[in-house]
Amino acid sequence: ETLARPGVRGLRAYDPGHDLVALRRRYVEAQLVELGSNENPYGASPQAKQAIVDALAGIHIYPDPLGGDLKRALAKHHGIDSANLLLGNGSHELLMQFAQVFAGPGEDVVASKFGFAVYALAAQAAGAELRLAPALSRDAAMPRGHDLAAVLEAIGPRTKLVYLANPNNPTGTWFGAELFADFLARVPEHVIVVVDEAYAEFVDAVDFASALPLVARHPNLVVTRTFSKAYALAGLRVGYAVAHPQLIAVMERVRESFNVNALGLAAAEAALADAEHLQASVAGNAAQRAALAQALLARGLKVSPSQTNFLLVEFGDDAGRIESRLVSRGVVLRPMGGYGLGECLRITVGTEAENRRLLEALDEVRA
Ligand code: PMP
Repeated sequence: ETLARPGVRGLRAYDPGHDLVALRRRYVEAQLVELGSNENPYGASPQAKQAIVDALAGIHIYPDPLGGDLKRALAKHHGIDSANLLLGNGSHELLMQFAQVFAGPGEDVVASKFGFAVYALAAQAAGAELRLAPALSRDAAMPRGHDLAAVLEAIGPRTKLVYLANPNNPTGTWFGAELFADFLARVPEHVIVVVDEAYAEFVDAVDFASALPLVARHPNLVVTRTFSKAYALAGLRVGYAVAHPQLIAVMERVRESFNVNALGLAAAEAALADAEHLQASVAGNAAQRAALAQALLARGLKVSPSQTNFLLVEFGDDAGRIESRLVSRGVVLRPMGGYGLGECLRITVGTEAENRRLLEALDEVRA
C-alpha cells in the first residue's frame, strides 16, 4: 500500500456488486435472475457467435494490433474516418486511460455527482484531484441527472478533463442536444470533454442527440461507446472512442499493443453488421422498460426516467432489506450505497419473464 503512488493509496477498486460467481453456483437449478449489471438479456447476434467460432482457428496468433477491420466497419457505420477511432478492452479501459494521459498531480478532473463510478476512480488513480459538480435535485425532471451549468462552473484553471455520461449510469437520465451544444461552446478548448455514450443505442427520446457529429468541429471532444450493452458482448470486452485524429494518436502511444482480443474484434464486427438483431434488442428493451417502470410506479415506487436498459428506483429506508431479501430469492439487483444512494436500487430491465419473476419476488418481500 505505502509503495503505491499517492493517488492509488486508499483507492477502492470498482465494485461490481455481488459475488455473482458464487451466487450462480448456488442457484444453478432455481436460475438466478440477474438484473444487477445492465447486461443485455436477449444475447448476442447469432452472426457474432458464428464469427467467434470462425475466429477460433486463429487464436494461436496475435490479433491485429490496430483492429483495422473493426475500425473500418465502425468508420463506415458512423460516417467518420478510421483515424478518429480508438479501440479498447471495453470502454472502461479507455475511460481510465484518458485520465492517465491527460491529467495528473496538481491538475483536476471534473465529473458530476451520481456520474458513473469509474470517472472518480480514473481521476484519483491518475493522481489528479476530482471535482464533483452538484447534480440536479431528486425532484427535477431529470432526477439527480447531470447539471451542465454546474459542471461548467466546476471547471477551473487546472481542469484538464471532464467526464459526462449520456445517458448516465446509475441515474438513467440524459441531457438534450441543445443543452450540450451550448455547454461545449463554453468549455475552454484546452479542457477535454469525454462523453460516455455506453447506452446510446437504447435511446429513443427526441431531445437526445449523440455527441458524435460534434467531434468533427471540436478537437477537445471524445465520445466513447461500447459493445457490452445493446450489442450484448459484455463478456468479450470491446469498446471504442471517437475523437480528433491527433487526440487518438496520443492515446495510441500508451495503449497496450493487443488490447482487443481476436474473438472480440471478430464478434464486434459481425455484431455491428447485424442491424436487425440490434434493433430487436433495442425494441425489446424499450417495451420492457416501459412495462417495468409502469409496474413499479403502480406499486407506489418512485422511478427515474430512463433512456437506458435499467431503472433507478427509490425504495426509501427499506432498500437494503429488500435488496438482500431479493438475493435470497435468487433475484440480483444493484445496491446503490456506493453512490450515496442507499435508498435506491438499480434494476436492469430484463426479459418479460425475468421482470415478472422480479415483481413476484418484490411483492413477496414487501408484503
Ligand atoms: N460507461 C458506463 C456509463 C457504463 O455503465 C459502463 C458499464 N457498466 C461502462 C462505461 C463500461 O462498459 P464496458 O467497459 O463494458 O465497455
